[in-house]
Amino acid sequence: MILSEVLIDEKEIRKRVEELGKGISADYAGKDLVVIGILKGAVVFLSDLVRCIDRDVGVTLDFMAVSSYGDSTNTSGIVRIIKDLDCSIRGKHVLIVEDIVDTGLTLSYLVKMMLEREPESVRVCALLDKVERRKVEVAVQYTGFVIPDYFVVGYGLDYSGRWRNLPSVHVVVPERGDEA
Ligand code: 5GP
Repeated sequence: MILSEVLIDEKEIRKRVEELGKGISADYAGKDLVVIGILKGAVVFLSDLVRCIDRDVGVTLDFMAVSSYGDSTNTSGIVRIIKDLDCSIRGKHVLIVEDIVDTGLTLSYLVKMMLEREPESVRVCALLDKVERRKVEVAVQYTGFVIPDYFVVGYGLDYSGRWRNLPSVHVVVPERGDEA
């Protein structure tokens, strides 16, 4: 695969992340909030997002690692927990931060699993959403950008582990000779 055009540039991302932070700050003002980053893709987004949440929200961070893709660009539908949370979320307000929602399989599994741990509430914040690819219903309360069905990298998202460090979101396309 090769890197193609910029789909969302740094400036647009920064503006939208600030807006999301404002919304989250207003919704959780005076409350404590456990922000759960889904490794590794959400790390860049999460680190910018939490710095846009006001100090009157009591933010703590936790992380979970799951695998649903391996090295290919097609979802397996199987979600494997590689790293679980460090802390209990029982009775807490929880915000799951994801890089991208595609079929919705990963997120619906994660939300169900969180709910079983009896938190006060669970909401989802996703930087990107490929709405047209959805296979299962999942509620996303905070969405950065709805995008078409492209495979994208950058700003935390990878292809085979690469390109997470790019500051913008790019489309990747097959190289000549790649399998279709
Ligand atoms: P879902 O379970 O919603 O189909 O897939 C969610 C996960 O698939 C995301 O967390 C991400 O790891 C991966 N994914 C889906 N679409 C893309 C994409 O366009 N680019 C990258 N890099 N990962 C994607």
